[in-house]
Amino acid sequence: MPPSTRPARRSPVGRQRPAAKEQGKPLAHAKIEAQRVAENLEYFAGLADKIRGDYIPLDDPSKFGITMRRPVGVVAAITPWNFPLTLFANKLCPALATGCTIVLKPASTTPLATQRAIEAINSAGFPAGVINTVHGSGGEIGDTLVSHGRINKIAFTGQTATGKRIMQLAAKNVTRVTLELGGSDAMIVADDADIRRATAAAAIGRFFNAGQACLAVKRIFLFEKIAEEFMTKFTERAQKEWKIGDQFAADTKMGPLHTEQQRAEVESQVADAVKRGAKVLAGGKRPDGPEYAKGWFYPATVLTDVPEDSRMSTEEVFGPAVPLFIVKDLDEAIAKSNSSIYGLGSSIFTRDMAKARKAAEQLDAGYTWVNDIQVAYDQLPFGGAKQSGFGKEHGIEAVESYTEKKSVVLGSA
Ligand code: NAP
Repeated sequence: MPPSTRPARRSPVGRQRPAAKEQGKPLAHAKIEAQRVAENLEYFAGLADKIRGDYIPLDDPSKFGITMRRPVGVVAAITPWNFPLTLFANKLCPALATGCTIVLKPASTTPLATQRAIEAINSAGFPAGVINTVHGSGGEIGDTLVSHGRINKIAFTGQTATGKRIMQLAAKNVTRVTLELGGSDAMIVADDADIRRATAAAAIGRFFNAGQACLAVKRIFLFEKIAEEFMTKFTERAQKEWKIGDQFAADTKMGPLHTEQQRAEVESQVADAVKRGAKVLAGGKRPDGPEYAKGWFYPATVLTDVPEDSRMSTEEVFGPAVPLFIVKDLDEAIAKSNSSIYGLGSSIFTRDMAKARKAAEQLDAGYTWVNDIQVAYDQLPFGGAKQSGFGKEHGIEAVESYTEKKSVVLGSA
């Protein structure tokens, strides 16, 4: 989840408590999430009256062509639980700006955050039927929604496996889809990087929202020269700065994981790496104590010597655990970063513009940050490569994906 880059203010959505309660994130982070919704609404409200076509001269001088953008129609928006507010906003805002209507299906474990936000937005006076929500399990109602003949676009965010199923169902009516799917973002730390900055960014990138973020830093590649220093400082941050606990306590940095199944998955990925020879530098087991008895807590976990064919290397790790790999140079770092089936985000920390440029050109991902991480700006198109999906949210590209470009030929009367 991208931290906000703008000054705090009262969010018109103002419904952060359900996001913290249902999902498990610290309340302060839920507030950031609510603010991002307001920013997203504001950005697309600004675009709404700037959607236009072109005048195109034709071979036949007695006529001319124009293009116009028409709303695609009814959008089915299906969202996951990890950022229940921002992820529906990524779909709702361009839909409203382009004149589409929308049917939102939030994750069945986080219905209230979306429902309350929709009620607040609808209270602004949208006509009945423009913004609609349906609740229920994806397995039960998802298929009906996705294969319904009157849905004109499916905007999906979730796991790659679910995205594949949705593509198949969408084929029935040739419904257009955009898929924002899983990721295993690589962060490269070069030998000339600012290590203090890189470790701070890596910690936020991996442990924010207890690691349950699509754009989280999920694999870290360290140049040999700085590897030891990075490992020591990063491990220290993981142990000292990422306090786990009750999401409503002011000093909590990481709440519980979302579900028992979510924690079990991360535990089994860590166990698999350890069984194959990985070394745990921080965390790696459930915290002890009565304060952790209620909730699926798991600490900030750092591993090294993780085999490249282990689950932590090849799968998406959707929790606060990260493998550190040592590489000899940028070519190796890029090749290993690109070895994943995913291609959502990527980052490099370096002071050398040549390295930064090469990484930006060669990393197979929808985003590359240089000396930065994870902030997905409203102004920049956002979306993955490879099995992280296709289609863009944010930016003018989102408007394009919620409209159909039509050609018109104007002949003389
Ligand atoms: P998920 O299991 O794929 O669920 C996402 C949504 O799809 C939920 O609303 C779910 O409903 C619904 N769904 C499930 N099966 C369906 C079906 N057959 N037809 C239609 N809808 C169906 O994903 P998740 O575990 O909630 O979310 C985590 C994943 O999302 C991670 O892989 C993460 O990387 C990815 N993600 C990607 C982005 C991005 O922008 N690329 C952003 C955030 C998260 P139920 O809740 O009822 O199962």
